Amino acid sequence: MHLDGIDILISEVGPRDGLQSVSSIMPTEAKKVWIKALADAGLREIEVGSFVPAKVLPQLADTAEIVTFARTIPGIQVATLVPNLKGAENAIAAGAQKITFPLSVSETHSQKNLRMTHEQAFIQIKGIVELIKSLPADKRPLFEGSLSTAFGCTLEGEVPLTKLVKVAETLIGLGCDEVGLADTTGYANPAQVKLTITEIWNAVGKDKLTGIHLHNTRGLGLANVLAALETGLTTFDSSLGGLGGCPFAPGASGNIVTEDLVFMLDSMGLRTGIDIAKLLKVREIVQAAIPAETMYGFTPDAGVPLHYVQGGHGWGLSA
Ligand SMILES: [Zn+2]
Repeated sequence: MHLDGIDILISEVGPRDGLQSVSSIMPTEAKKVWIKALADAGLREIEVGSFVPAKVLPQLADTAEIVTFARTIPGIQVATLVPNLKGAENAIAAGAQKITFPLSVSETHSQKNLRMTHEQAFIQIKGIVELIKSLPADKRPLFEGSLSTAFGCTLEGEVPLTKLVKVAETLIGLGCDEVGLADTTGYANPAQVKLTITEIWNAVGKDKLTGIHLHNTRGLGLANVLAALETGLTTFDSSLGGLGGCPFAPGASGNIVTEDLVFMLDSMGLRTGIDIAKLLKVREIVQAAIPAETMYGFTPDAGVPLHYVQGGHGWGLSA
């Protein structure tokens, strides 16, 4: 997808990662208002749900309807998670433009999260690649293999980098368009982020890894963004109000906060295409729809600096 006037693509995952890990169920109509408001604020990619059985995640039971709705909004790429071939079939039928298979590099986490060994997951991925190939070229979604628990696992501990690289090579070999790094558990540190990106690039090529999904579990979220940015990644997942976590990774909480991420990038002079004032207003929609849930973020509390001018002009960078 070509994005004019944007240096950094922020992929908003609140409607998926955020909602799947809170107990409140957001009404479908509120989700639609939220997603529309995100698009109006300038978000260009939104992960709107996950095609998992409703009994597993009732919060996301309306994903097909949400995808269909989101496709009516011009200018956004509609992304969803698909945990298996059946999910991919449903996602494609609903019109998803990007689908992500979350493969846990930690096999123990894979068993818990997807109830699949790696070999079983690879069979599903192969099936999804074949399904996509059978579609006319203009109907094919982008297919990302997400390397979940890439930086460590709450069930296995350290995830060896050699294993991570091997799984990345396997996913690309099976036909994924790209791999994504996901710090599902909030274990990553900036040095690890730099090393990991470099090693995966060396193995599969720079064009096969462009994005990273970070959590702020230990307060290192934005430091990890900066490390990834300096290494050369240009796509960052984040969640409005820092909603999110992983219900199957105990202790993993909170995506990085979209509002703080946008402020950091914008104040550094990078263009995100996102209007911070409008973005801050979107919080009200979410808070009203799920009032029991806590919304995080420093920029929302403190506001932008006095006389701050948005739009990637930078702050304090001129002579
Ligand atoms: Zn996550």
